Amino acid sequence: MKTNPLSQRDKEHLWHPLTQHKLSGDMLAIVKAKGALLYDEQGKEYIDGISSWYTAVYGHCNEKITAKVAAQMQELDQVVFSGFTHEPAVALSEALIDILPANQQKLFFSDNGSTATEVGIKMALQYHHNLGNDRKVLLAFEEGFHGDTFGAMSVSGLSVYNGAFEDHFLKVLRLPVPVGDNNAEVLDLLKKLISEENIAGFIYEPLIQGAAGMKLVDPEGLEEILNICKQNGILTIADEVMTGFGKTGKNFASDHLLTKPDIICMSKALTAGLLPMAITSCTMEVYDAFYSEDLAKGLFHGHTYTANPLACTAALAGIGLLKSGEIQDDIRRVMASHSAFKERIKDHPKVRNLRQLGVILAFELNVEMERYGSLRNRLFEHFMKEGVFLRPLGSTIYIAAPYITTNEQLEKIYTSIEAALEKF
Ligand SMILES: *Cc1c(COP(=O)(O)O)cnc(C)c1O
Repeated sequence: MKTNPLSQRDKEHLWHPLTQHKLSGDMLAIVKAKGALLYDEQGKEYIDGISSWYTAVYGHCNEKITAKVAAQMQELDQVVFSGFTHEPAVALSEALIDILPANQQKLFFSDNGSTATEVGIKMALQYHHNLGNDRKVLLAFEEGFHGDTFGAMSVSGLSVYNGAFEDHFLKVLRLPVPVGDNNAEVLDLLKKLISEENIAGFIYEPLIQGAAGMKLVDPEGLEEILNICKQNGILTIADEVMTGFGKTGKNFASDHLLTKPDIICMSKALTAGLLPMAITSCTMEVYDAFYSEDLAKGLFHGHTYTANPLACTAALAGIGLLKSGEIQDDIRRVMASHSAFKERIKDHPKVRNLRQLGVILAFELNVEMERYGSLRNRLFEHFMKEGVFLRPLGSTIYIAAPYITTNEQLEKIYTSIEAALEKF
């Protein structure tokens, strides 16, 4: 039997995501998670201040979810979703359509956020192809992030480390994010691009760009962009992989806007942090462009684990929680708590661009830092030492903790941030 700690055994065969192993230290072994807490091999606990990449929003190992998945596991574990269907998928579709913007009518399953956007991109391109429109170009925001598969990488503006693949990308035009005072310029550029190119679809993170460092998008500017796209036959694809399921204070970020997208990409909190799954939803109009006697007009995309019954069960339980009075109260409580914390640090000389959207709070530390540089790593270490798991993006510190994080736990996150303001 091996007795080495996990972090040592890990090094033997494992290759971790977003990691240059020659420059990185040992991986921290997590042995248990409960509620807002993660526990390491030594028994030290950490508040999961980013909900494990925005997934575990109702808390880790939430029994209201795990019990249902455990029961489902005894009934039906996995079955092909091409030619077959099952109760967890049907029940999930009914529950999800109920909370999605009203124009969303059809759901297509895949496995993760990248495949959700990949499917959205393919829907937009094939929609025009099926209708006989010559539209092959996509439009996306600068600094957007949509995932790591080829279509998703192509539309992502954040591609600092994608150099090896750039020659193989789809053709994508870029639009700066409207932030209020640049709206007129952004709209002018949009109109110019539309006059020059045949744009099939516009993909965007609604209201807040996650990986870019929780950057806010001006809602009015975005609304106008969406309207202009609609008027020009450009399908709008909302990437709600990060923003979906309550993080912005509403079920979806698109709920804050009047103009609804044609396509919505979901993953991350969709399955409440339990299992990987994604859904790309669309309007009847999009679906109808694929509905045909011509076989080739169908969407010939499919993953082996499509609509896995266990993942569907977790997602259905998650939606049940999201709609519950307790979770809605929790969301409001965390939002109010963040607002109060903002007052505490807003005048601190090291705090720049303090902002909040729903349960997400972010600001830039007024200190020069590279995205994955050593000072940023020291900042990360500082939080971990304090028992708080935050993952600063360069000098951007942000909180996206589970909705069920207690007031005491929130306070512990805040004091660890205040300590960082003094130390760095
Ligand atoms: C995380 C993320 C993705 C990619 O999801 P994966 O599950 O990591 O492939 C895509 N879009 C947005 C907005 C994300 O935050």
